[in-house]
Amino acid sequence: MKRAHIWIPKPGSKFNKVQCKECGEESVVYSHVSSTVTCKACGNVLAEPTGSISKPNGKILGSAD
Ligand SMILES: [Zn+2]
Repeated sequence: MKRAHIWIPKPGSKFNKVQCKECGEESVVYSHVSSTVTCKACGNVLAEPTGSISKPNGKILGSAD
């Protein structure tokens, strides 16, 4: 059996579509960000690295996997 070379995401980690609550711009945000993610349109903070789980400051529209 061949060793898998594909990347296996950690359980619970995924990409989410987040809509900025300031301007409505949609961004894809990883659920376990390591640095602050800001809206590309207005600069609003969408996610912050709080431990291992980000805290989205926008509306999650769903998974973007
Ligand atoms: Zn925005």
